[in-house]
Amino acid sequence: MQQTVLVVGGGPTGLSAAAAVSAAGYQVALVEKEALLGGAPILSGYAKLVPSGEWAKDAIGRMVQRVEQDDNVAIHKEKKVIELGGEAGNFTAKLSDGSSVQAGAIVLGTGFTHFDSINKPEWGFGSFPDVVTTTQMEQMVSSGKITCPSDGRVPERVAILLCVGSRDRQIGREWCSKICCTVSANLAMEVRELSPQTDVFIYYMDIRTFGLYEDRFYWQSQEEYKVKYVKARIAEVTASKDGRLLVKGEDTLVKRPIVIPFDIVVHAIGMDPNEDNSEISRVFDVGLEKHGFIERAEHYTNAGGTTRKGIYSGGAAYGPETIDDSISQGYAAAMRAVADLHGLV
Ligand SMILES: Cc1cc2nc3c(=O)[nH]c(=O)nc-3n(C[C@H](O)[C@H](O)[C@H](O)COP(=O)(O)OP(=O)(O)OC[C@H]3O[C@@H](n4cnc5c(N)ncnc54)[C@H](O)[C@@H]3O)c2cc1C
Ligand code: SF4
Repeated sequence: MQQTVLVVGGGPTGLSAAAAVSAAGYQVALVEKEALLGGAPILSGYAKLVPSGEWAKDAIGRMVQRVEQDDNVAIHKEKKVIELGGEAGNFTAKLSDGSSVQAGAIVLGTGFTHFDSINKPEWGFGSFPDVVTTTQMEQMVSSGKITCPSDGRVPERVAILLCVGSRDRQIGREWCSKICCTVSANLAMEVRELSPQTDVFIYYMDIRTFGLYEDRFYWQSQEEYKVKYVKARIAEVTASKDGRLLVKGEDTLVKRPIVIPFDIVVHAIGMDPNEDNSEISRVFDVGLEKHGFIERAEHYTNAGGTTRKGIYSGGAAYGPETIDDSISQGYAAAMRAVADLHGLV
């Protein structure tokens, strides 16, 4: 029985799994394909996280530091697993640089891929420089200045369009990405705080600021920050003669067409399955569920399991997930993996 757990992916899930395995007294080999650890919040430059309000670089930075300073964790950056031999208790993973890792169990913390707004061309992304994504807008917030990418002017009006690449059967993405309503309400408040002269409108189908997020984000954004919510079905984003953006659609409360000019339009992009998932499924011989996320084993008695014995997963690899839940699921997967090293499960 090998006494090492192989953790693939250095985002919130993988970082939490690695720390938990080490705390239990076992060795970890952490394989991350990018040059930086931290996953989407670091790689995409998120600003302040919900619900904590802490900057992503500080909050996730602490998770990265804990693992980087841990002697039980061997970190392999800019590498992938390209072949897996053996079985539960005694896996051999061949890495893309030719080296190999022996492990008793594996945790896949391989996460998700942001929806590419190019796949929703009628909403203007790629055609107009002032149509941006939530991740681009978060980077703008991190820089401390809200300006139009096209000419640097301070925007009078910003529209945030929810459910871009989520809940959209026409483009094969029927799932709700779970966190983007709350992230957008938070982003709207950040824009108002940095640029009080800018009005922010949120266009929605339904608002899903679930659990305890309702008053803290949905109500606070309206009552304290005067963010305006418009229940609408968006048809298209075009340009007006004076170079502003026109958001066209139907106000579904009053059932009337609406056309409103904006200076910046933000796509609240959803969470797609990791673009590597067919490769991951082949290399690790794990199943994918019908949307392309990693398939769970039995829901109640093996929640962190995949379809293959000895391989566990958690977080956004299983479907849209928050950071808090990804961290918990990383811990849970790590405990299952450690139990395997004891030969308990
Ligand atoms: C715009 C936006 C804003 C968000 N803001 C918040 C927020 O404020 N609060 C919140 O709770 N949640 C937020 N989320 C959700 C958050 O991004 C996820 O919950 C979180 O990133 C999931 O962590 P993860 O480790 O499972 O996946 P990821 O963060 O995707 O990390 C996966 C890691 O695995 C690596 N990897 C992938 N494939 C391979 C491979 N084949 N080999 C090796 N490495 C690989 C990746 O490079 C990455 O480092 C937001 C989501 C979006 C879309
Ligand atoms: S969380 Fe909100 S914005 Fe995101 S997909 Fe669900 S309903 Fe749409």
